[in-house]
Amino acid sequence: MKSTIKLALFATAISLSTSALATEVNVYSARKEALIKPLLDQFTQESGIKVNLVTGKADALLKRLKSEGTNSPADLFITTDAGRLHRAKEAGVLQPISSEILDAAIPSNYRDPEGYWHGLSVRARVITYVKDKVDPKTLTSYEGLADTQWKGRICIRGSSNIYNQSLVASMIEADGEAKTETWAKGFVGNFARSPKGGDRDQVKAAAAGVCDLAIINTYYLGAMIHSKDENERAAASKVALFWPNQEGRGTHVNVSGAGVTKAAKNRAEAIRLLEFLANKQSQNWYARVNHEYPVRAGVEWSDTLKAWGTFKADTVNLSVLGKNNPAAVRLMDRAGWK
Ligand code: FE
Repeated sequence: MKSTIKLALFATAISLSTSALATEVNVYSARKEALIKPLLDQFTQESGIKVNLVTGKADALLKRLKSEGTNSPADLFITTDAGRLHRAKEAGVLQPISSEILDAAIPSNYRDPEGYWHGLSVRARVITYVKDKVDPKTLTSYEGLADTQWKGRICIRGSSNIYNQSLVASMIEADGEAKTETWAKGFVGNFARSPKGGDRDQVKAAAAGVCDLAIINTYYLGAMIHSKDENERAAASKVALFWPNQEGRGTHVNVSGAGVTKAAKNRAEAIRLLEFLANKQSQNWYARVNHEYPVRAGVEWSDTLKAWGTFKADTVNLSVLGKNNPAAVRLMDRAGWK
C-alpha cells in the first residue's frame, strides 16, 4: 500500500516537472516521417516535451513559413541542403541561436556562422561509375568531368535541383566564376542525355547502358543497395563509388539540418530538440537510417558507409553554398544545363 502511494506521488512529481516546461514543440520537416519520427518519439520519452510534426516538400514548407510569418506555429524547420537552409535564413523565417552543446558537437563548417541553422547529417555528392566500363584511374575530380574523354557518357539530374546548384556553388568558391562557367559548358557537353529524373534514375540509366558515370548523393546508392526492389539492387551492383577531388580540396559534401524559426513560441524546447538530434545516439540513428554520415566525430558509421571507405571532404563553410547559389543558377543556365 505504502509503495503504491509513493509511486503515485512520484508520478505526480514527474508530470508536474514536465508541465513546468512548455511541453510542446512544433516541427516543420522536409524530411520524410520515417527518417525523423522515431527520433522525435525518443525525444518526447526522454524530455516529456511533446513534438507536433508536420512533414512536406522543402520548398512548400518554406513558402508556408513565409506566408504564416510571425503567426507560424512552427518552432523548428528541418530540411535538406545548406543551400535551402540559407534560403530560409535569407527569407527571414529563422532566428539565430547559440548553444555550447551544438557548438561542441557540430564542426563549424557544418553550421551557419551566425547560428541560424545547424547541420545534422552529412552527405557527399560523388561520381559513380559502371565497373566494367570505366577504369577509376581515369577519374580525378569534378573539374575533370569536362574532359572530352567523357563525351556522351555522363548522367546527372537537372539544374533546378538544389544538390547540383550547391555543387556548382562549391566550385565557384574553389575555382572562381569564370573558370566554373567554362567547366560547366564542357561538362554539359558531355551529358549522355538531357537531364531527367532524380539521383537514383541516373544510376539506373548507367546500369542500363545510357551512360557510364552518374553523379549522385551517397545515400541514394546506400538506399539502392538495400532496396526491396530487385531492379534497384541490380543497378546499384553495377556501379562503384569514386571520391572526387581527393588530391585537392576534397569531395563536395552537404548537410541536412535545422533552424529555429523566427516565430518560435517554444524556442527553448526547439533548441533542446536540436541538441538532442546532435547527441551521439541520435546521430548514429539519424545517419544510419538514411545511409548518411554523422555530422559529429566519434559516432560509428554504418557498415554500408564503412564499405565505401574514408574520404577527404571539402571543409568550406556550407553557408558559402547559399551565398553562391544565385550565381550558380545563372551560370548553369548560361551553360545550357537543362
Ligand atoms: Fe535527397
